[in-house]
Amino acid sequence: MAIAQTNSQQQEKVSSEASAGEKKRWTLSDFDIGKPLGRGKFGHVYLAREKRSNHIVALKVLFKSQLQQSQVEHQLRREVEIQSHLRHPNILRLYGYFYDQKRVYLILEYAAKCELYKELQKCKYFSERRAATYVASLARALIFCHGKHVIHRDIKPENLLIGAQGELKIADFGWSVHTFNRRRTMCGTLDYLPPEMVESVEHDASVDIWSLGVLCYEFLYGVPPFEAKEHSDTYRRIVQVDLKFPTKPIVSSAAKDLISQMLVKDSSQRLPLHKLLEHPWIVQNADPSGIYKA
Ligand code: AMP
Repeated sequence: MAIAQTNSQQQEKVSSEASAGEKKRWTLSDFDIGKPLGRGKFGHVYLAREKRSNHIVALKVLFKSQLQQSQVEHQLRREVEIQSHLRHPNILRLYGYFYDQKRVYLILEYAAKCELYKELQKCKYFSERRAATYVASLARALIFCHGKHVIHRDIKPENLLIGAQGELKIADFGWSVHTFNRRRTMCGTLDYLPPEMVESVEHDASVDIWSLGVLCYEFLYGVPPFEAKEHSDTYRRIVQVDLKFPTKPIVSSAAKDLISQMLVKDSSQRLPLHKLLEHPWIVQNADPSGIYKA
């Protein structure tokens, strides 16, 4: 508890400096750089300590040349703008950014327990308590995002990190949009995309309900529901909502009921997220603290 308080106090120190962003100009010399945490498509992520506050952060270093080559500068700008304004316990904080001639640096909250997909690979599938705790946390984070007119559009295990206490953090806002309208862009990974997005028809915030349903299935069965060898088969299975529940592992009918209410072709008929939080499977299984304790 003492550690948690110290962390959050330090966090506030970094963030108040970051939110005074216009005044504070970060440079690399403000940080002690530690071990590499991972490697992404456009650069590396390092553990780092902000020298003045001693606060531990994750520093994501992106190469401008690679961003330009892949024409994702616009996407990055949008990601930074959206993520830096979202403050929720289940959304990874983006404290600020800076750049030099060759690189862009993102100052991120450090997620000490790292990646969810590795946990899932290790366990093959999660218990119903663990799955429900994560799904409820994500639902709360998405309700918060949607309330701010932000749709995530790319909810999948690779974009989720686990914080020091075991809490889930949505980490990647690369495909998110700030929107008041319905959208048409096709984005995200095929397995998690709803029918309206694979068919490139208009979509809205209910795309995130679908992806959360896919994720809930994957948590419980270890594979996404519409997986197929060929892209074209995944596409067909999504469009037809070809949803099958294997006999193993054994999953409760309450969990299957929830998934079936989220994976609905007509986006207006998907279970709203606030109703999801009242679903018996969530109420009976999700830890109210939002933290999964092994
Ligand atoms: P990314 O470029 O976001 O895909 O990040 C590459 C890898 O770095 C991830 O797969 C994680 O293992 C690690 N990583 C990224 N961000 C963080 C963070 N905030 N805290 C801890 N590890 C991270």
